[in-house]
Amino acid sequence: MKIAVASGKGGAGKTSVAVSLALAAERCVFVDCDVEEPNAFLFLNPQIEREDVATLPLPVVDESRCDFCKKCSEACQFNAIAVLPQKVLVFDKLCRGCGTCVYVCPEKAIYEVERGIGYVEVGRAEAVHFIAGRLNVGEALATSLIRQVKRRIPDDCAVVIDAPPGITCPVVEALKGVDFVLVVAESTPFGYHDFLLLEELLKELGIAYGVVENKVGLSRKSRVKEYCEREGIPLLMEIPYRFEFAQAYSRGIPLINADEELFYAFRELWEKLEELV
Ligand code: SF4
Ligand code: SF4
Repeated sequence: MKIAVASGKGGAGKTSVAVSLALAAERCVFVDCDVEEPNAFLFLNPQIEREDVATLPLPVVDESRCDFCKKCSEACQFNAIAVLPQKVLVFDKLCRGCGTCVYVCPEKAIYEVERGIGYVEVGRAEAVHFIAGRLNVGEALATSLIRQVKRRIPDDCAVVIDAPPGITCPVVEALKGVDFVLVVAESTPFGYHDFLLLEELLKELGIAYGVVENKVGLSRKSRVKEYCEREGIPLLMEIPYRFEFAQAYSRGIPLINADEELFYAFRELWEKLEELV
């Protein structure tokens, strides 16, 4: 069973819910795909057993062989290579390492070197097998790193993925291949708006989903609950807005360990997900 925890915006409590769900599962693989801002380690405190550099192939042009025919720049879909009258420029931050330019070069003037874009960490937090990606500062290739992180997921095990917030390409990559998405939403006007955007994306992708409403009581109107009831979307859990929960969060204590009722509620949530998937 592969579950992704997602939210339309940052700050909705996605990571805290994802970590709590992994702890409720007892034995599972937790995957932090929020590679631009990985923070699940703050709650799980894992022992990191290995850290590997994640790389992408970067084209390098041997200008002594190049006749400046421009075939490489015409073939590149990402505008990552430009051919000037006497020079070829490769823009490493735009390059996806797809190899098309190498393939089309008639002079075999392009070779590749490996370029580091971030790290993949693997470790353990008691019964939770921990995998996380960390993108280098200033890098834009979150999607490529998420793909490399997900390759480390072992087969035949329960998996909880902490997806990046929002509805961008890295989110789509993180959600690929999951059985179910748990959407963490809040009823503030911004929270509700971004929840609707994510819901639209999930419909488009055709992935089954259910909702956890967080910070219930923060807004006078429970927009998320009303919407789920109206649209027949499973509202799987409601987490009240309490000062103690915010305090626990700021101390790196996952929700499941912040309150006894929540402990049982997360165990129940995991069981419901097992039934649904
Ligand atoms: S395709 Fe090859 S030969 Fe042509 S400009 Fe690019 S690097 Fe040079
Ligand atoms: S490897 Fe792909 S993305 Fe990078 S410069 Fe070549 S064609 Fe463009």
